Amino acid sequence: MLRIGLTGGMGAGKSTVARELVESGAVLIDSDAIAREVVAPGTPGLAALVEEFGEGILAEDGSLNRPALAAVAFADDVSRGKLNAITHPLVGARTAELIGDAAADAIVVQDIPLLVENGLAPLMQLVVVVGADEATRLRRLVEQRGVDEADARARIAAQATDDQRRAVADVWLDNNGAPDAIRARVRELWEQRLVPFERNQRAGVRARAAYRLVTDPEWDVQARRIIARLHLACGASAVRIDHVGSTAVHGLPAKDIIDIQITVADMTTAESLSDALAGAGFPLAAHVTHDNPKPSPHDPDGTDLSRWGKRLHGNADPGRPANIHLRVRDSLGQRFALDLRDWLRADEHGRAEYLAVKRGAELAAADLVGDEAGEAYYRVKEPWFDAVYPVVTEWARARA
Ligand code: ADP
Repeated sequence: MLRIGLTGGMGAGKSTVARELVESGAVLIDSDAIAREVVAPGTPGLAALVEEFGEGILAEDGSLNRPALAAVAFADDVSRGKLNAITHPLVGARTAELIGDAAADAIVVQDIPLLVENGLAPLMQLVVVVGADEATRLRRLVEQRGVDEADARARIAAQATDDQRRAVADVWLDNNGAPDAIRARVRELWEQRLVPFERNQRAGVRARAAYRLVTDPEWDVQARRIIARLHLACGASAVRIDHVGSTAVHGLPAKDIIDIQITVADMTTAESLSDALAGAGFPLAAHVTHDNPKPSPHDPDGTDLSRWGKRLHGNADPGRPANIHLRVRDSLGQRFALDLRDWLRADEHGRAEYLAVKRGAELAAADLVGDEAGEAYYRVKEPWFDAVYPVVTEWARARA
């Protein structure tokens, strides 16, 4: 099962996108509908609200009078806190129940207007944001939904900004254009990303990237989003989580795959995280048990695997390949991943040399596919790592 978060400013077109996703086959969980359901007449939720805020919040027919509730509950932070303490757990429980009812291969879309405001993005395997210029949103709200203009402006101003939404958006759906255009984009997203993502996750398959060097100014924010999800999946078992590898070095061309290192206390902890990581969309590469040992004075031939152990997971999302390396705190591999990144960030010549080696590796893999491409690529790259290892470790030692 895949959990997708859908959000966007008022009037941007969330409901329009949600409808198209449902037509494609998604299971929709509408948080506004749940928020109404848990305080419908006859529910324990409504009874709790009346107990807290009095009979004055009820309409004549016994249903909730929302403006009356808002008047008392939004009066101050304490009242607002009491309202949330009643409704949030009920909404959470009902949401969990609906997610639990979804089929094992379902693509569940949670429509959450306040996803950004409530910090829910890391809970989702993918966040889709529907965006439209403020003027467009206002016009739609006023002309198509009959909202009073001043009211629409005030509500838009009270929500998250587009910059805040962009920071969590794995997918940004621009809905400034015609309805047909956004519907076509949603279909494409469904077929090219969501369906294969769900299939990969269920089958434990990691998304791959081509052995081609590119640059992308978004790598850093994409890594941050992955790290937020990993923190949630690992909890206190992660000593630290870092963006490592070439995509963490500004301006250095790299294969379009983000490397993340999760530092753990020991390998048993790494193993214990397998299910949580797989469930969060990061399946295990079971065949990988260590990095290639690098020659050092203690191990001149570079054959001692014991200090280079690791577990490897990958992202199932075909739209964002990532390698997730789990390494033990202060193991040689864990130190080297951090030191190499920092050295590359600091040393212009090192960066140029590494790029030249990578260009050679790219060329060696150019006409090959699958495992053969990977082997050709790493045959060129690995000797350079062996050669640079003492340089990098010495640089890090001198700096410490
Ligand atoms: P939200 O759920 O994000 O508040 P809606 O999906 O309800 O937004 O869209 C707001 C209004 O704008 C609706 O009346 C909808 O039919 C209309 N709308 C959505 N997308 C477009 C579009 N691309 N062009 C014109 N009108 C649109």
